[in-house]
Amino acid sequence: LATLGVMGGGQLGRMFVHAAQALGFQTAVLDPDPTSPAGRASDVHIATAYDDEQGLAQLMQRCEAITTEFENVPAGALATLAAQRPVAPAPTAVAIAQDRIAEKAHFAACARDTGVGPAPYAVIEAEADLARVPDRLLPGILKTARLGYDGKGQVRVDDRAALAAAWERLGRVPCVLEQRLALRDELSVIVARGADGAVVHFPVQRNLHRDGILAVTEVWSGNVPDTLAQRAVAATRAIAAQLHYVGVLCVEFFIVDDGSADGALVVNEMAPRPHNSGHYTIDACDVSQFELQVRALAGLPLAAPRQHSAAVMLNLLGDLWWRDGQPVTPDWAGVLALPGVRLHLYGKHTARPGRKMGHLTVTAADAQAAIATARVAAQRLGIAPWR
Ligand code: ATP
Ligand code: MG
Ligand code: MG
Repeated sequence: LATLGVMGGGQLGRMFVHAAQALGFQTAVLDPDPTSPAGRASDVHIATAYDDEQGLAQLMQRCEAITTEFENVPAGALATLAAQRPVAPAPTAVAIAQDRIAEKAHFAACARDTGVGPAPYAVIEAEADLARVPDRLLPGILKTARLGYDGKGQVRVDDRAALAAAWERLGRVPCVLEQRLALRDELSVIVARGADGAVVHFPVQRNLHRDGILAVTEVWSGNVPDTLAQRAVAATRAIAAQLHYVGVLCVEFFIVDDGSADGALVVNEMAPRPHNSGHYTIDACDVSQFELQVRALAGLPLAAPRQHSAAVMLNLLGDLWWRDGQPVTPDWAGVLALPGVRLHLYGKHTARPGRKMGHLTVTAADAQAAIATARVAAQRLGIAPWR
């Protein structure tokens, strides 16, 4: 039995482990938390720090190939692994995705081919950069270059005084200031790229964020205008190809008004791994994003995925476990009674507000039915309506 390794023990690692095991692989997860969601699902769990020499040695000894489930694995640890085992995506690609400054530079370079660039931005690395910020970037969003996720490490700033205060508050670390755009919509595209350069992609996903956290993903044919969808897929392919990327990559896009009927695409950020907006692929596609990550890592063929059902994915955040300051159990029986509902809970022990505890996917033969059921499910769980 071949063993596939994963750096990181969160829910993405857990779903990767499930997909790997279904294909007959063994898995080894390295995560410092002995109760991590992926660690508990995995055949082997190495509970050391990510850069612990012995932990890394153990992972390499166990595994034929290694991937990562979150982008903040220390680049040095991945490089150590890559010196002795196939690692996908490569540490160089992960390093770019880890750093918004390098990421935006990559997007800007790809924009010469794709015509889809990032939001106007400036790099803030030193006090003097604040004064050089052009007026048109305000109001803006100041984002730390590293370690941000789910809207953490971001501050909305309306003017120069707020910008200076925000940079101070973020600890004067390297940041990017982005122009705050009026978003008409948010999309994401997930591709899988093999070592031979073959690329397959999932349908374009429409995402709703609340407080900087993904709340709802909706996917069905016709949900995104064709020309926009084709441009988003082409841009994602170019972004992956120019990184010589191997594995599953997700690119997030904004749609902004530009006077045209469909609006214009702006590239936001990428995730060098399966993505929350692709969780619906487990239940609504013939091959999931996690299985494609397994296939890419193991050098197996990447069949083009086909979506067989309309899908609405609702994220289940820790807030649902609390009402008026008291712990409650969400009405699982109430949602499981609905046709086409699949519940995924990650086995996390503490439900903190804003923490991703699980998701549910509603599948149906058409969009109207999926929306109708998802609305009822949301109401039964206490998730605010979104349409
Ligand atoms: P993730 O968890 O997706 O990695 P993140 O913390 O890296 O999130 P972003 O994707 O940069 O954060 O931003 C989170 C959300 O904030 C976006 O999905 C979007 O709704 C909003 N947002 C970010 N940048 C901008 C912008 N320049 N203009 C308007 N809204 C923005
Ligand atoms: Mg991000
Ligand atoms: Mg994002």
